[in-house]
Amino acid sequence: MAFSLESQPELCLQAVETYGSPLYLYDADRMEFQYKRLTKAFEGLPVRFNYACKALSNQAVLKLFHELGAGLDTVSIQEVKLGLLAGFEPKQIIFTPNSVGFQEFLEAVELGVVINIDNISILEQFGDRFGADYPISIRINPHIMAGGNANISTGHIDSKFGISIHQMRHVERVVQKTGLEVEGLHMHTGSDILDTEVFLQGADVLLSYAGLFPRLKFVDFGSGFKVPYHPDDLETDIEALAQGLKHRMADFYRDYGKEVELWFEPGKFLVSEAGKFLTRVNVVKHTTATVFAGVDSGFHHLIRPMLYRANHFIENLSHREGPKRIYTVVGMICETDTFASDIPLNQVHEGDILMFYNAGAYGFEMSMNYNARLRPAEVMIKNGKLQRIRKREVFEDLLRNQILD
Ligand SMILES: *Cc1c(COP(=O)(O)O)cnc(C)c1O
Repeated sequence: MAFSLESQPELCLQAVETYGSPLYLYDADRMEFQYKRLTKAFEGLPVRFNYACKALSNQAVLKLFHELGAGLDTVSIQEVKLGLLAGFEPKQIIFTPNSVGFQEFLEAVELGVVINIDNISILEQFGDRFGADYPISIRINPHIMAGGNANISTGHIDSKFGISIHQMRHVERVVQKTGLEVEGLHMHTGSDILDTEVFLQGADVLLSYAGLFPRLKFVDFGSGFKVPYHPDDLETDIEALAQGLKHRMADFYRDYGKEVELWFEPGKFLVSEAGKFLTRVNVVKHTTATVFAGVDSGFHHLIRPMLYRANHFIENLSHREGPKRIYTVVGMICETDTFASDIPLNQVHEGDILMFYNAGAYGFEMSMNYNARLRPAEVMIKNGKLQRIRKREVFEDLLRNQILD
């Protein structure tokens, strides 16, 4: 891909020159490429992709996906409001919270978005209050184990997400009693699902319950598409998945008696690879056992390695050639703060810029102020131009909500 950041080291270095380090850098063309890959793979089906904005919720990114024709997947009322601000119509936004109070659902009703309910208690309260007046979607738990690891699997038997498929009789009774109109059936079973068969199994489970709800407008298979985390890594075979689903949906439409829309809500797939995180090496430290490269960042900016043991491929942008040595890359937080252990990097010098791959999803979005550190700037590259989309924090930001007298 000619436009991808990995093939433009000069541009990335220029971004650091201009906006400082550390820095989140996003490639808008790459986001668009990923979105078009999805729409092309599923061509021929009545499909809709709702960008899961918890991956990266900057207004510039939301506007980009809005312009491309995507919908929006949200998990909090604040995300809903960010989506509306970016220009999405309420009906283009699906709201799938977990463990929120009824009040937050009432706010969502006020805003007019598509509401996806994932527990029976809320379903009853919602039905008693609105009956058929406000159609809803139901998130089921299909009880399949999917996803890269336990922290990001959401459809297994012990998961807090969704309404168990073994409780569908109960759901039916609530729907009958309250007159609720069910317009959608949803599942989201986890992240980093490599195996398309697991995905299709989940789809089969969901479709097998669709017959209980004769007025569906959509079925939503969630997300979980895996992206490659290093140059030789595997990704979900989107094209094979689309082929598999085309057959199943054709059968389903025949049995169901009509076509309903097919929705997905990818986050990572759309933005992970488009993002790079750039840091500067403050110190190189030789201990008896290890050579550390200590950078001007830490898990307060990119928590995925510490939280999920995620592997972010790292490259020495300042020295793209020359001998490789083994380094452990650490941040400056005063706790264990390791980005990667014993990885090969082109010989690192103090002042070098290290580039972390796959930083578009759950990178900036999970950042925080621990150790009274400041959050980095975000920059987007669009049509070959760098554009700052968030300022770097300054000291005063730490005090903004503190009461000082
Ligand atoms: C997190 C989440 C997604 C996005 O998952 P990715 O792995 O980033 O694609 C989609 N839907 C829901 C309900 C989520 O919570």
